[in-house]
Amino acid sequence: MIWNEKFECLPLKDLKNIQSERLVKTVEYVYKNSNFYKTNLEKHGITPKDIKNIDDIKKLPMTEKENLRDNYPFGLFSMPLDKIAEIHVSSGTTGNPTVVGYSKEDVELWAEVMARTLCCAGGKPGDMVQVSYGYGLFTGGLGVHYGALKAGMTIIPCSSGQTQRQLKIMQDFKPRILTCTPSYALFMVDDAKEMKIDCKKSSWEIGLFGAEPWSNAMRKEIEDIWNISATDIYGLSEIIGPGVAQECTFKDGLHLYSDVFYPEVLDAKTEKDTKEGTPGVLVITHLTKTGMPLIRYKTRDIVTIRYEKCKCGRTSPRISKVLGRTDDMIIVRGINVFPSQIEHVLLTIEETQPHYQLIVDREEGGLDTLEVLVEIKEEFFSDEVKQLNKISEKIKRQIESVLGVGVKVHLVEPKTVARFEGKAKRVIDKRKL
Ligand SMILES: [Zn+2]
Repeated sequence: MIWNEKFECLPLKDLKNIQSERLVKTVEYVYKNSNFYKTNLEKHGITPKDIKNIDDIKKLPMTEKENLRDNYPFGLFSMPLDKIAEIHVSSGTTGNPTVVGYSKEDVELWAEVMARTLCCAGGKPGDMVQVSYGYGLFTGGLGVHYGALKAGMTIIPCSSGQTQRQLKIMQDFKPRILTCTPSYALFMVDDAKEMKIDCKKSSWEIGLFGAEPWSNAMRKEIEDIWNISATDIYGLSEIIGPGVAQECTFKDGLHLYSDVFYPEVLDAKTEKDTKEGTPGVLVITHLTKTGMPLIRYKTRDIVTIRYEKCKCGRTSPRISKVLGRTDDMIIVRGINVFPSQIEHVLLTIEETQPHYQLIVDREEGGLDTLEVLVEIKEEFFSDEVKQLNKISEKIKRQIESVLGVGVKVHLVEPKTVARFEGKAKRVIDKRKL
């Protein structure tokens, strides 16, 4: 079902009018209420009068993650703190964490876009939802929670962890929807086997998996194991948390709710729109938020975008799965490497598990090395060195042909690569860059 047909299926001309109206209002609002934006717009010689429609968005300066960190904790709020209803924090790899403030209306918006999202994946009022994203400062758990509540679903707020209890709940309560990270969906398999659960008979029919990039090969793996329809959900705390975009049941791109989040996909260097279907950096502008609206926020996620109407009837543009990040992309001997490329190869190899880790290091001579730690399946694990060498040679050959860079493959016993209940940490970069 379509949760909000009026806004999700707007004729494109009407959508553009709404976007224009909302952008004008938002720019007036931040100019009046945010010192950061007032200063920033003035620095670029822009006043709200210069913004008359959505096409004028190109005149506005970008907002970067550094702007949030530099103005830690509340410098980008457009509202006095006593009007802010909820605060979330995402941990940064360096420096201050990123703080996001929601007004009461923003929390209502979050519930609205997450209700759209749950229905977009195939859910409907009355469904039972197992929320296995973490609850707390991370936006995953509460975001799904608000949306499910609004959509009239039954919520099981499991949060992440305590896997055997999660599985018992699945068996006894029979929830139809599972929401967690894709790596957690795979992580649960080992425990399920220990509990002698037949994964194929799980009660889950629909999964909303996100918070980390994953490949279509991994989708197939999850769908086969759990007998579930695995859909991709996209979000980030700076924009709202989960609920920015979601795949419909056709699984042909993620619908981005562009009546409230205006997307641009820009070339990383020139910052001009990429051609439809060409990868670029996703930049999002809030059109209705009031707590901490952001103008042209650079997500650092690389996606493609398409504007044609979907078979499901929704007119909102569709973005691709996240193809990589502008920042966690690793460069090895001058070659761009995305962990998802390696994951894709591993999933095509019969003897391996989709549990892996990449270790990047630099030799004394200055040459970069890329080591791939791969877990081998129980039934293929053997004490015979010759046998193992054969498998690792095969993996090495295939990865090298995809990446175009030499790798060392290191096979490890089943269940030895670190498991992650939240975001998987796939890359260990030991180089001092
Ligand atoms: Zn669709």
